[in-house]
Amino acid sequence: MDSILKIENLQKKYKHIQAVADVSFEVKKGSIFGLLGPNGSGKTTILGIVLNVLNRDHGNYYWFGEAPLKGNRGRIGAILEHPNFYPYLSAEKNLEVVVGIKQVSKDNIERVLRIVELFDRRKDKFSTFSLGMKQRLAIAAALISKPEVLVLDEPTNGLDPQGIVEIRELILKIASMGTTIIISSHLLDEIEKICTDVVILKNGRLLLAGKVGEINKKSSVIEVAADDM
Ligand code: ATP
Repeated sequence: MDSILKIENLQKKYKHIQAVADVSFEVKKGSIFGLLGPNGSGKTTILGIVLNVLNRDHGNYYWFGEAPLKGNRGRIGAILEHPNFYPYLSAEKNLEVVVGIKQVSKDNIERVLRIVELFDRRKDKFSTFSLGMKQRLAIAAALISKPEVLVLDEPTNGLDPQGIVEIRELILKIASMGTTIIISSHLLDEIEKICTDVVILKNGRLLLAGKVGEINKKSSVIEVAADDM
């Protein structure tokens, strides 16, 4: 299978905190790949490094079998934080801004609004959206360049139960359309429900990597990781 992202011996320290300690793994095309770990285990730092918003101390990463990220931007869609849009612009106008920045055709706006099921709400101001709808609009923006991989950092954080279900279903739908997904979460249940593959992190270290169906057998490792999940 094709390699989407390969990480080799990644390390990152913030002063005295070893946020990421010698982490290696590979994300294959077509997977829904979960980064599972409690708060502070290094998930956001790893995603920040591979998306080129943070520097690394050591190690390498390769998107699509190639280093570096330059030139591959359109092939990767990502949401690292809670979505930031213009509150008084409609969903559609906000996506027009994204289209301008990413220099893609306006035709993509209707496509992505339909995927995230916000087409009927396209004229509504962003400020009137629920958190779940805001998150769906952010996913729409991340899909605007028809990326091969979508990277989501704790996308269900802060959502109500209904919003959580909607985002999980949306992720499965996007995956079924052929997009590889990389998602971080501190919820074992979430990873088990939607992911095909998982790495478990604790204190910046990789405890376990494997197929989601197989990790149940190694429950002692999960218990160690899950102490504070
Ligand atoms: P969370 O779910 O809370 O975001 P995480 O698994 O994404 O957790 P990171 O945010 O990558 O973990 O943090 C890893 C470690 O690095 C933690 O101990 C955290 O306190 C520390 N850390 C993260 N960012 C910084 C920073 N800018 N300066 C100092 N320490 C940091």
